[in-house]
Amino acid sequence: MAAARLGIDAHIYCPDENSPAARVSAAATVAAYDDEGALAGFADAVDAITTEFENIPAATARFLTARKPVHPSAEALETAQDRVVEKTFLNSIGIDTAPWRAVDSLDDLAAAVGEIGPRGILKTRRLGYDGKGQARLGGPQDAAEAFASMRGTPAVLEGFAAFECEISVIAARSTDGTVRCYDPGENRHSDGILRETHVPAPIDTATRDAALAMAGRIVSALDYVGVIGVEMFVMADGALWVNEIAPRVHNTGHWTIEGCPVSQFEQHVRAVCGLPLGDPARHSDATMTNLIGDDINTVPALLAEPGAALHLYGKGDARPGRKMGHVTRLGKTVA
Ligand code: AMP
Repeated sequence: MAAARLGIDAHIYCPDENSPAARVSAAATVAAYDDEGALAGFADAVDAITTEFENIPAATARFLTARKPVHPSAEALETAQDRVVEKTFLNSIGIDTAPWRAVDSLDDLAAAVGEIGPRGILKTRRLGYDGKGQARLGGPQDAAEAFASMRGTPAVLEGFAAFECEISVIAARSTDGTVRCYDPGENRHSDGILRETHVPAPIDTATRDAALAMAGRIVSALDYVGVIGVEMFVMADGALWVNEIAPRVHNTGHWTIEGCPVSQFEQHVRAVCGLPLGDPARHSDATMTNLIGDDINTVPALLAEPGAALHLYGKGDARPGRKMGHVTRLGKTVA
């Protein structure tokens, strides 16, 4: 929809017959990510290619890169697809994360608990999101059950971060290397799923500046083009630990649709099409609330609520834990 507003036709490539994006786009191809004939036809039909889901196989991105500009790059996707690769990259450019160890066996886990401490979260290295593929450890007694829940897939143990709050920076980098960041929001989760984002985040100016600089360092080091979401833990001493990077428009940036003249979606379209980035300054405070599962039943009330900007994704079944839409409420205007 952001592309259409700029007069650009979007062509959606998705294996799912019922992709919400295809419903509002000029064209769609329904095919598997490894269908080279369909991928080649798609590449012929478009001028620039981007992704809105970090688990598109890097091989698919590479196949397309040989034909048309693809942003973010296959390398950026690969970095974000594996938590060990991601944390190794972040630490290598001097960015702190929770202490972590790769875990491939119960012995590895016992050793990792010995080094990091008894409280932690065991996560699958790949394909985890919204708290899926995660098991909390309250102490060494939880190790066997947590390891079993990984079902033999490679994992990573992270030390438990006793954070003051969670924030995210939505950053954009253009093909000429210009970086623009939105104001950080505070993110509140339950059961590992994002419930709310509040902007501005309750952090001081020094922490805000450090968060923006950190996001800038990440996109520059990755030679990234497009919008990225950088999730951070704010520790009691003001230190920032990066939890994860999401190489795409991000749920914690949805408030920018109503809160800024140029939303994260338009910013992403501008970046991947080689256009100049827009001004990310926000004009209002904002709260974004996700509608998860049964929350869909609140839609009649939201439709009646003055000032509530409702977005429904047209996803069909409102299964528990499924993000069905969101609502943004603006607060006071920023001078
Ligand atoms: P993730 O899927 O890694 O983004 O984790 C989802 C949520 O779980 C995060 O936003 C945090 O609220 C919580 N979480 C993840 N990792 C940690 C950690 N190492 N320490 C404390 N909380 C965490």
